[in-house]
Amino acid sequence: MNLADSELVLGLLDDDNYSLTEKMEDADVVMVNTCSVRENAEQRIYGRLGEFKAAKIKKPEIVVGVLGCMAERLRSKLNTEEAKGVGQIVDVIVGPDEYRKLPSLLNQAWHGEKGIAVQLSRVETYDDITPLRTNGISAWISVMRGCNKFCSFCVVPFTRGRERSRNYFNIINEVEELAKRGFKDVTLLGQNVNSYNHDGKDFADLMKAVAEVDRTIRIRFMTSHPQDMSDKLIQTIASKDNICKNVHLPVQSGSDRILDLMKREYTSNHYRQLISKIKTEMPEVCLTTDIISGFPTETEDDHRITMQMLEEIQYDGAYMFKYSARENTPAWKMADDISEEIKSRRIDEIVTFQNKISAKRNQATIGKVLDVLIEGDSKKSSAELQGRTDGNKMVIFPKENYTPGMYIKVKITRSNSATLFGTIHHNHLGVTI
Ligand code: SF4
Repeated sequence: MNLADSELVLGLLDDDNYSLTEKMEDADVVMVNTCSVRENAEQRIYGRLGEFKAAKIKKPEIVVGVLGCMAERLRSKLNTEEAKGVGQIVDVIVGPDEYRKLPSLLNQAWHGEKGIAVQLSRVETYDDITPLRTNGISAWISVMRGCNKFCSFCVVPFTRGRERSRNYFNIINEVEELAKRGFKDVTLLGQNVNSYNHDGKDFADLMKAVAEVDRTIRIRFMTSHPQDMSDKLIQTIASKDNICKNVHLPVQSGSDRILDLMKREYTSNHYRQLISKIKTEMPEVCLTTDIISGFPTETEDDHRITMQMLEEIQYDGAYMFKYSARENTPAWKMADDISEEIKSRRIDEIVTFQNKISAKRNQATIGKVLDVLIEGDSKKSSAELQGRTDGNKMVIFPKENYTPGMYIKVKITRSNSATLFGTIHHNHLGVTI
């Protein structure tokens, strides 16, 4: 979501004659787009501002900006001890619903005037702003903003505000433009895409329409709330070849008692039924999830039930985190009573266990020929390329004469828990399709 927002900001500033620099030394404005979902992210922002401070010492006229979810929180914290003396270098603070004010705030900052804009909006969707995308293959499209769910641990409804959906036709137009520019992989984004609603068009309608724009573009989406994922959406994903059979469905915990405390609005059985429907409609689906370990009052039994859930569902991958209490959330008022030591041990157990499952899932692809969209050079060797499968698995293979943006078939020869490796599969005519 933050990557998509940064592209939106670049689009806005591009209209105001700013352009992106490769190196910070060349920049007149440096900004950091912040995330407040986890406490750790906030600490990293202070570190990043420390780097900006060093740049500002060398070039005092640089304007420094802080954007995104932490903007509001940071405003009151920049002069505190915690900010490690970097607060005074910040010239502009802009929250996620106020990016339109950036050009004028930057203009004021050039004249030495600091500026803050952190109001949340019930209507802002930036529907008319074209994001400036730097990667020519994969694109993110934000289809809605905010969230009305209020899960007890989550700061998003407070930092990003209430749900708002973008205009259905504008999203389709945006995908048409991306198709003309040669993009091949589009992810529709929202905090809870299943709540998308524009003039009676729901998320399944939007997915179907977007998939029909160009059958050579893969369509993905992120993220779904299990309570709102409809049968219609599952059937839509199953029915279109170019909608990736890759579903990220955050479970957070396997324990009904913890799910209730998290205010997730579903039970583990409801979640199981949903997974069962998805697997029935799409036997080849790749499933991923989010897990929070060490939520207040979590017992060894709750932890064990979560591990059982992982065993039962056999996810291809998971984002797994220790619980960190976020100020102003309902869970903030509960005692964060699981010690750091226990949290660390439980998350280690979960990560180790899930990695084994991911490795096993990946191993099952050995010998198969998978369609891969080439993204670019492998990070480790320029003699190899990397790309992704429909199920969003990373694949590394020899370069031969292929280039980013092409679809090729790769025969998987080996794997680990994170990556598949293979060779390009040529058919008997020597043609790769
Ligand atoms: S649905 Fe997601 S974004 Fe919304 S409150 Fe829950 S965890 Fe946060």
